[in-house]
Parts: sequence; C-alpha cells; structure tokens
Amino acid sequence: MKIICIGQNYPKHNAEMKSETPPEPVFFMKPDTACILNGKPFFYPDFSRDIQHEVEIVLKISKNGKHIDPDFADSYYDEIGIGIDFTARDLQSECKKKGLPWEKAKAFDGSAPLGTFLSKTRFSDIQNINFHLEINGQTVQKGNTKDMLFSFNRIIAHVSQFVTLRKGDLIFTGTPEGVGPVKTSDHLQAFIENQALLRFNVK
Ligand code: MG
Repeated sequence: MKIICIGQNYPKHNAEMKSETPPEPVFFMKPDTACILNGKPFFYPDFSRDIQHEVEIVLKISKNGKHIDPDFADSYYDEIGIGIDFTARDLQSECKKKGLPWEKAKAFDGSAPLGTFLSKTRFSDIQNINFHLEINGQTVQKGNTKDMLFSFNRIIAHVSQFVTLRKGDLIFTGTPEGVGPVKTSDHLQAFIENQALLRFNVK
C-alpha cells in the first residue's frame, strides 16, 4: 500500500504558503509506516520544532489502474476519509531552499493519521463536501472540496500516468488554508460535514 499526497491544491493555502498556482497536480508520497490508525497518539518527533497540521480529504483506491481516463476515474475509489498530512515545516523550508526532496519533512513515521472511511455513495456531490479540523475544541482549518484546483478525477488521472494505482492505496487530496503548529498534549478532531471521523492526541 502506498500513500500519494497532493500539494498546493487549494488557492488560499497556496497564498498563505506564498506558493504559485501549479499548472498540474503536484504530488509526493509517504510510506505505509506514516499511518496512524484507530485513534493512536502522534508522538512529536525530536527532529523538528515546527510540526504543522494539514487536514485533508483522503480517497481509498478500490481497484488497480494505470493511465486512467478522468471521465472514468470516479470508479477507481469507493470510500473517502479524512487524515492529517503532518509536515515538519522547519525541515521542509530547508529542503525547499536547497531544492532537495521533501521526504524527511513529509514522510516520517506517524505523519499520516487516518480516520474512519465512509462510502462515497453517502455524498450527493463529492466535489462539495465540507471538512474541518479542531484542536482542543477550536476550529483551526475549514475547507470544502469545491475549492480544489484539481478535482478527485483529475488527480487520479494525472497520478496514474506516472504511478500504477493499486487497490488499497490512499490519496491525500490537499489542504485548505489555516495550517499551523501542533504541540504536545493537543487533542485533534477531524470532521467530514459534522461527523468526527478522526480523534487523537499529540504526545
Ligand atoms: Mg498536504
């Protein structure tokens, strides 16, 4: 199983990061050792002083595919969930400055807490889903999938030109504005519409 993550997919997040609007989806990967499941805690790593939350809608790939046509891409995922793309922002800034890959800032152990997945049939319009993240009961990030630069189908079509998608792979589809730091003892709760699907503590 692999985790593919889309970067720079929400215009207001790109503005807060001073990133340019990408002409095509930007992607990177995390290994399966990044996953945190079942509400287990995230342990703040000692290599960073600036771990930041990025709440994202996550697609679960339901069948193998390569060179997927965007018109048929929605048949390649059957469930959606919510996850956090934890980022060591201090390390990422260093990597960006030096033109180096982002892996140590993005792919470290525990960098992908995941919540419960829901059947996509529960949503009448998959590109109009509200989601948000609360830390200690306060909303810190709020998004809607209609604001994505590249739709779920565009993402699947684009990524599958380069990387074969397999059943069980996950795609993090980008974060809205409002990214920021977490600290030990924080309690995070992520919601799709008003349903809390992910809850865990930072230790
Ligand atoms: Mg992200």
